[in-house]
Amino acid sequence: MMLMDNYLTLEINKTKHIALVAHDGKKKELVDWCEKNQDILKGHFLCGTGTTARLISERTGLPVKGYSSGPLGGDQQIGAKIVEGQVDFMIFLWDPLEAQPHDPDVKALLRIAVVYDLPIANNLATADFMLHSKYMDEVYHRKIENFDKLVSERAEQMK
Ligand code: PGA
Repeated sequence: MMLMDNYLTLEINKTKHIALVAHDGKKKELVDWCEKNQDILKGHFLCGTGTTARLISERTGLPVKGYSSGPLGGDQQIGAKIVEGQVDFMIFLWDPLEAQPHDPDVKALLRIAVVYDLPIANNLATADFMLHSKYMDEVYHRKIENFDKLVSERAEQMK
């Protein structure tokens, strides 16, 4: 059997693919933050859940690819893009003071972001530190489990 490493590295290029998501109680904060930082954000690819994407795009004029609204599956769509390597940076302002109908989706998105070693900000202070990190202007290598190896091993065990 071919020897395989336990971990793989995935590149985050200089130009990031940034997902922007904010719960209703946090939308104003995120839109204001995007406006304040639009000179940096304009150098990257932006996407977001439906309503958040629309609001950011309307305020800043930046192109923000909108997926479905969060409660209608938008969180899951962004999670899938993380798995496919098409989102590699996320600002996700979830609301700690409000229950969400799609709480399982929120947890799933946060979980998959950690699995893929994605930089994620859940508040504006972290977002500020991330956006002003030296890694914004560099290629960064994130480290993920070698799932192909896990699949091969599991398939072998199940025979
Ligand atoms: P929204 O979704 O941007 O469509 O409001 C956000 C969310 O609740 O995940």
